[in-house]
Amino acid sequence: MTPTLDHEPWSLDAAEIEKLDKQYVWHPFTQMAEWEADSFEPLILTEASGARLKDIHGREYIDGNASIWTNVHGHNHPRINAAIRDQLQRVAHTSFLGSTHPAAPVLARELVRRAPGQGLTRVFFSDNGSTANEVALRMALQYRQLRGEAERQQFVAFESAYHGDTVGAANLSGIDLFNDRIRGPFPAVRRVASIDELRDLGSDFAGTVNAAIIEPLVRGPAGIRPWPAGMLRELADWSQQNGVLLILDEVMTGFGRTGTMFACEQEGVTPDFLNLAKGITGGYLPLAATLTTDKIYEAFLGDRNKTLYYGHSYTANPLGCAAALASLAIFDEEHVLESLPPKIKALAASLGQLTGLPNVAEVRQCGLASGIELRGLSEPGRRLAGASRLGAAVCDAAREFGLLTRPIGNTVVLLFPLCISEDEIRTACQAVEQASLLF
Ligand SMILES: *Cc1c(COP(=O)(O)O)cnc(C)c1O
Repeated sequence: MTPTLDHEPWSLDAAEIEKLDKQYVWHPFTQMAEWEADSFEPLILTEASGARLKDIHGREYIDGNASIWTNVHGHNHPRINAAIRDQLQRVAHTSFLGSTHPAAPVLARELVRRAPGQGLTRVFFSDNGSTANEVALRMALQYRQLRGEAERQQFVAFESAYHGDTVGAANLSGIDLFNDRIRGPFPAVRRVASIDELRDLGSDFAGTVNAAIIEPLVRGPAGIRPWPAGMLRELADWSQQNGVLLILDEVMTGFGRTGTMFACEQEGVTPDFLNLAKGITGGYLPLAATLTTDKIYEAFLGDRNKTLYYGHSYTANPLGCAAALASLAIFDEEHVLESLPPKIKALAASLGQLTGLPNVAEVRQCGLASGIELRGLSEPGRRLAGASRLGAAVCDAAREFGLLTRPIGNTVVLLFPLCISEDEIRTACQAVEQASLLF
């Protein structure tokens, strides 16, 4: 007997949802023993509009991390909603293996048109940021094989970089907490801290490098840590001089997050691979794209054994492509990039006010992405002595002041949807201030 679905999700109350969740679900990056504890009440989000989220009890929050860095133009945007509905009325998903559909090639053209420089001419679709990077990795590996450059096996990656959770992408990452357990010999990765360190490795080393990968301008998951100005340009020059491919992971930085459409524009850099995900659909649906050049693409042309044997069941999902096209249209119609400078300034001003607070060690900003690094105070009478878990405690407390976000270690991340208002930016920063003063 097949059990029938005995609950419409929307007929459940908070207690019923919590019970089912604790019984059946395993959450990402989560110690489930803590989640399952009776005392833990999961946040149940049920609605959202613009930069605001609502939970099942009707409480409102500013979406302070753009729903894990995905949302761009706000939730429930009529333009994206309509685009998805239009596509849905025709078909939700068709295979991209052996067939195509209208939205994907149009989206590919639009991405190529907006990509930095003239060189990024081909788009390979996948599902998420990890796969966007995985695709570039696979292309780079096979490209060297096809060219008979067997000596170029290694990848250069940066310390405290994050490139995703699939095994290949995780091996390129340098955040031990996340990938300690799967670190393997493949692909071979040389991790460096700076361009100087890279240069010091010399030209013999450079001749063994396949590609260098970096999050341009700012490392996101390391706690919103901007690179020194000019560093990306120097890496691009080093790569060019040494015949090394340049892979840019713009999974977080893409689609206006740093103030320009793509972060690499700010240093006039055009990579061999531009990897996009998170914001590509405006934060609606899982979709990713890896853009590359004619040089890479053409190396794969010829007989069947030159084929890139890679793809996923939902590659170029039509609903995702429709959402992505609508999101790009909104950039034009609502002059989104032009609207950013005053917001970025407002964020800088509000962050400046946080700088002097007793619990704040440092604030960091790149465009509308920011990190507020906390330090624990150990004087008597403090609710939370030392630094441990202060970030989580402050984020929890900030919910009471109408802000929802997550910490990375002891850094509170504020990374806003681009539609956020200056007032909402100030309110969010005040919520962090008020919350931090409790500890
Ligand atoms: C989020 C992120 C990824 C991984 O993307 P997923 O969609 O979570 O797989 C990769 N790189 C960067 C810089 C990211 O911020």
